[in-house]
Amino acid sequence: MKLREVLQEHMITHLLQLCKHELELSELPEIFLLDDQPTTGHGTSFGEFTDNGIEVVTLGRHPMDVMRTLAHELVHWKQRTENMPMDGSDGSDTENQANAVAGIIMRKFGQQYPDYFVDTLP
Ligand SMILES: [Zn+2]
Repeated sequence: MKLREVLQEHMITHLLQLCKHELELSELPEIFLLDDQPTTGHGTSFGEFTDNGIEVVTLGRHPMDVMRTLAHELVHWKQRTENMPMDGSDGSDTENQANAVAGIIMRKFGQQYPDYFVDTLP
């Protein structure tokens, strides 16, 4: 396993714990990291959820972007457990809420793990 992958695993574990707490999720979906484009379904071009879990594209992306997408999709996951109508179009209530809540989570994530925001690449 490459160092970058190990670091990413740690970040994801911490982010999932934070999201679970912030979103009051009783259980977490499975997370699939794709070194490729996502399949079809709800979501941006970088993330989506399926009946099996959440898919996030990691290919060529900064780890913090990956985390932000993951938080965004987890908000959608939460919305779905509350039977909110799923509308993935820009400016919809579900999208606005997902962006806003993901932003709050990422700010807390940054406060708890400031080291993650230091870009170690040369
Ligand atoms: Zn969305």
